[in-house]
Amino acid sequence: MSKKVAVLPGDGIGQEIVAEAIKVLNVLRSDFGLSVETEDGLIGGTAYDVHGTPLPDQTMEIAREADAVLLGAVGGYQWESLDIAVRPEKGLLGIRAGLDLFSNLRPAILYPQLASASTLREDVVSGLDLMIVRELTGGIYFGQPRGIRTLDSGERQGFNTLVYAEHEIERIGRSAFEIAMKRDKRITSVDKANVLESTELWREVMERVAGDYPEVELSHMYVDNAAMQLVRAPKQFDVMVTTNMFGDILSDCAAMLTGSIGMLPSASLDANGKGMYEPIHGSAPDIAGQNVANPLATILSVSMMLRYSLDEADMADRISQAVDKVLNSGLRTRDIHSEGMQEVSCSAMGDAVVAALRG
Ligand code: NAD
Repeated sequence: MSKKVAVLPGDGIGQEIVAEAIKVLNVLRSDFGLSVETEDGLIGGTAYDVHGTPLPDQTMEIAREADAVLLGAVGGYQWESLDIAVRPEKGLLGIRAGLDLFSNLRPAILYPQLASASTLREDVVSGLDLMIVRELTGGIYFGQPRGIRTLDSGERQGFNTLVYAEHEIERIGRSAFEIAMKRDKRITSVDKANVLESTELWREVMERVAGDYPEVELSHMYVDNAAMQLVRAPKQFDVMVTTNMFGDILSDCAAMLTGSIGMLPSASLDANGKGMYEPIHGSAPDIAGQNVANPLATILSVSMMLRYSLDEADMADRISQAVDKVLNSGLRTRDIHSEGMQEVSCSAMGDAVVAALRG
């Protein structure tokens, strides 16, 4: 039976980059026998304009029925003055919560051809291929109690709570170990177990989960050291698993090691491996409609989708090899362009990946 993908282009460049990703998916279907059906839905400002909400029920239904969701981006100047409850970004938060996507996968991959785009030395980052697995629905961003209170002294005090239940740690642990099994089978669990009891438990549960994955090598690292190691020698890592807040910070740091926001895909998974796949960047309203956006992060999101939700690792490899070939040929969109390379449009970049797949 063919698998089903919900396609939600969203706003701004979302429309342009998803169109290129769909070209790639279509070639895999027509030329390589991939069996996948797609169904389109509206999300973000585009959905608000039609239905008065950034996440219409029809969209949620399409997403629930699908095996995976491919999303472009949401947001734009014209929706910034809307009430916060119906802003485009609410659509994104709503679909993540509605599908219970607790495991956020943020790869930091640096194609050797783009090593000069990084702020770090080429030999430190060239060939980097690291996966950060961030817990997305728990921890200090959601813990209760929270707020700002007034003390007896009259001074105000802000407070938040860092809580992790065993089942929350266990499920993100399993998610990370499953991913490690599809990669180099090494996990670094990042915590602050020397000062935070919640992450002392985190470490204990990670050890327990590791018992079910004897092929995977688990090590632990304190978050301050992990931050330092990420900029000192990032290639030492394969998979890094960590809490919501530590992952928020470390994944942005890792993304920036690669120097190019238009190249990085991401995934958010539920307990059964169903996922939503999207580029890490936003809707880039400053360049929307100009056919200059880089579609490669979205095309690489399709590759992740094939690997992690659709069980089509060969097809996933075909896409990454095609992207590699296109970069080798010297084609670059404006955001990754450098001297001596040939600048191409968003649609020409999509066409080039299609041609590389075919030939
Ligand atoms: P952004 O990521 O959209 O853009 C930041 C900069 O990077 C811009 O200069 C943009 O032109 C450039 N850029 C981004 N993607 C690119 C690509 N594929 N190719 C070439 N250049 C690219 O972030 P922003 O400007 O802070 O936010 C714009 C809108 O996007 C806002 O409404 C924001 O809320 C929304 N946003 C959405 C998501 C999402 O949908 N996941 C994520 C972040 C921001």
